Amino acid sequence: MDRSAEFRSDTFTLPDAGMRRAIYAAEVGNAAYGEDPSVTELELTVAEYFGREAALFFPSATMAGQSAIAVWCKPAEVVLIEQYGHNFYFETGSMAFISGTQAQPLPAENGILAPATLAAAIRHVENPHARTGLIVLENTSNYGGGTVYPLATLKHIFNLAGTHELPVHIDGARLFNALQHYRLSDPAVRPGALLPATGSVSLCFSKGLGAPMGAALVGDADFIAEAARVRTLLGGTLRQAGFMAAAALYALRHNVERLVEDHRNARALAAGLAGIDGLAVALDTVQTNMVYVEVEEGAGRAARLIEQLGESGVRAWNLGRRLRFVTSMLVDNTDCDYAVAAVAKAMSAA
Ligand SMILES: *Cc1c(COP(=O)(O)O)cnc(C)c1O
Repeated sequence: MDRSAEFRSDTFTLPDAGMRRAIYAAEVGNAAYGEDPSVTELELTVAEYFGREAALFFPSATMAGQSAIAVWCKPAEVVLIEQYGHNFYFETGSMAFISGTQAQPLPAENGILAPATLAAAIRHVENPHARTGLIVLENTSNYGGGTVYPLATLKHIFNLAGTHELPVHIDGARLFNALQHYRLSDPAVRPGALLPATGSVSLCFSKGLGAPMGAALVGDADFIAEAARVRTLLGGTLRQAGFMAAAALYALRHNVERLVEDHRNARALAAGLAGIDGLAVALDTVQTNMVYVEVEEGAGRAARLIEQLGESGVRAWNLGRRLRFVTSMLVDNTDCDYAVAAVAKAMSAA
């Protein structure tokens, strides 16, 4: 089979010809001295976009998020985070290792923390035993299904955090996906509304935005100055990083609007897969570019299905009895139709 369709992750996206030209033509300098014009342009662009004082370019969103945690919290403080949150569940314990903080993993429906869950977990500053230092929200929630925090829930949580004088960090690796989702019902939604008054956001350019690498951390100037120290401590202060900043700028200018296509494709894919016997798809969680599919027979059948799909060139990610399909610029609507047909064929072949 010649045909192939990559649904494992939006991190497989590759720079297109325009992005490669932007990388080639980038004006660069020594970013460690603040003299790389492309890095500076990216940082100013991102800070202005979110209406905040400053931004900082990072090699990865993992490093950006962990740096944020290290700035907001003292060692031994507690970070409230959803139990499958990336900063806790997918980053090999780096929270404990880098900042000496401890995660308090909280249950949530489809990855979206309820304000009441957070309210019950917050230990007041005067509590000497396990002091809460930070709330982390992942928007969109990867493991939750690419789900989005409703704007009213965000507001509620930001108010709660404000009452307790707690900062909030938004793990916004896919915040632009969330933004496109909000724009369906409110085209005028401001990116700044997705951030708390006291807090920060990390963004990833190498997911659906298609850049080869890079991330940004956004916040107030004092916070960013401290984050720059942590970035250096972690070995993330680069020199001619402008080549990668140019790719990120290109992504911001060309690949944000098109995320709606990925979301449309994910909905079509989900609807198709939901009609296949032996599979369960929680259609209400398909809000952005992910489709999680439960194989009712269990993990053995799921593993076999992945193998069968591989023979048709369709690649999905296996998480036990769940499979994950992610839409990105790598797949179009015909690839989604092709994937649905391949899954239907495999499931009927048993
Ligand atoms: C991918 C991802 C990250 C980390 O991004 P990298 O740039 O790969 O380090 C953080 N949080 C979430 C939710 C992610 O999906």
